[in-house]
Amino acid sequence: MNQDNYDALVIGCGPGGSSVATFLARSGKRVLVMEKEFFPRFHIGESLLPCNMTIFRDMGVLPALQAAGFPRKYGAQFELGNGSIGTRFVFRQGKFNREPEAIQVERAPFDHLLLKHARASGADVREGWSVIKTISDSAGVNVEARDPDGKIHNFSAAYLVDASGRGNLTGNQENLRELHPTWKKLAIFGHFENVGRQPGEGGTDTVIVRLQNKWFWVIPISADKTSVGLVIDKDEFNQSGGSIGEIFQRWIESSPPVQERMKNALRLGDLQTTTDFSYYNRKFIGNRLLRVGDAAGFLDPIFSAGVFLAMWSGRLASEVVLKSLAQGKPNRRLFAGYERRVRKGLMFYWQVVENYYTTPFMELFLQPRAHHDLPSAVNAVLAGELEGGWSLRWRLKYFFLLVKLQKRWPLVPHISFAPRRARERKTLAAAAKV
Ligand SMILES: Cc1cc2nc3c(=O)[nH]c(=O)nc-3n(C[C@H](O)[C@H](O)[C@H](O)COP(=O)(O)OP(=O)(O)OC[C@H]3O[C@@H](n4cnc5c(N)ncnc54)[C@H](O)[C@@H]3O)c2cc1C
Repeated sequence: MNQDNYDALVIGCGPGGSSVATFLARSGKRVLVMEKEFFPRFHIGESLLPCNMTIFRDMGVLPALQAAGFPRKYGAQFELGNGSIGTRFVFRQGKFNREPEAIQVERAPFDHLLLKHARASGADVREGWSVIKTISDSAGVNVEARDPDGKIHNFSAAYLVDASGRGNLTGNQENLRELHPTWKKLAIFGHFENVGRQPGEGGTDTVIVRLQNKWFWVIPISADKTSVGLVIDKDEFNQSGGSIGEIFQRWIESSPPVQERMKNALRLGDLQTTTDFSYYNRKFIGNRLLRVGDAAGFLDPIFSAGVFLAMWSGRLASEVVLKSLAQGKPNRRLFAGYERRVRKGLMFYWQVVENYYTTPFMELFLQPRAHHDLPSAVNAVLAGELEGGWSLRWRLKYFFLLVKLQKRWPLVPHISFAPRRARERKTLAAAAKV
């Protein structure tokens, strides 16, 4: 095959890469996707947002996802670790939400389904191929890649999309990565059977349980499998005694709502860890280059926005490439617009996550004041309504103003992370000693 006439070359076929490849291929463009793994492969990041559904529909992949039987997600629940307070957001009740529900997914089959859809849409998707080096300048793009047998090949294309995820190929090549200045977090996670679920439609919600400076996720990813994870400060983890399993178990036992859900749980496979996941690149674009998804930046996964941001930015990137191809040269204005829009989206979640770790935010978040549709505005953030217009923006600004006021003049009752019973205090004291 002539290796020199691709319209676009995409690095990586996670959700970001498969969305950009699908949109380009469905517009009749010649797209080469190189994915270093063979799918299906494990990946973390399993709770999706309602706004993902619009993208799936536009990619033409929604019927296949529905047929695959992934659990439907109708809402998200947030609780304090001591069980003293909790709240549920139901997406269809959000006044600003355009989509009433999302899905929860096991990433191995989900990512595989998206990859096969990109291929069926006409993209040349190659598994087991690693991109090693890229050069993109005003004349074009050149890429060096290793095939599954270890042989090196060179390809050229008009545009390059880096969707290499946290591998961050081009960002690292250009030394662009900025880690979050203070969040040094670590996540411990695994898949479990027999995790307790609430009866009814709330049983497939994502449940987030917030302890003082750490939090658990509980995500039902199939009828009997649940993803459970803990995000904890790296320093605290390093100072804790015991194995990863012991540390994980100790914190499960410190929180009655988590302990209750996990009392009959059986682990499937090993626990895994990952660290330093909050960062962004100083630039999301280069000469004929667009970075999408985690290859642009990623932040603490508390609001489950990663897959949505990857696919949303993938779609925007495909629009920039399509228009530039139509004009016969990179459209600088569109590239700059992509940079601005994606940075704004990422920074928006960044701001919400920074607030999430403060107590006044949690106080208002768990007890949203039912005026000016504020609960709906918060619901919209959880649904992925990134660009909901002024009516949403001013409410969120107002919400953040209330958070500031809450610090000095409490508008809603204070919350406490302290254990509620002597037995829990004993567990925590024992945990602190180790
Ligand atoms: C602890 C944790 C929990 C999370 N929870 C959630 C959640 O609940 N919901 C959510 O939406 N998101 C969550 N995320 C985030 C989510 O995992 C990512 O945001 C999402 O996978 C980004 O998609 P992507 O396509 O940009 O990157 P990826 O999904 O990482 O895909 C990148 C692909 O590129 C390939 N690749 C890398 N380098 C090369 C190379 N040199 N050559 C060829 N291929 C290459 C990789 O093999 C990979 O398949 C979580 C993240 C973490 C760390």
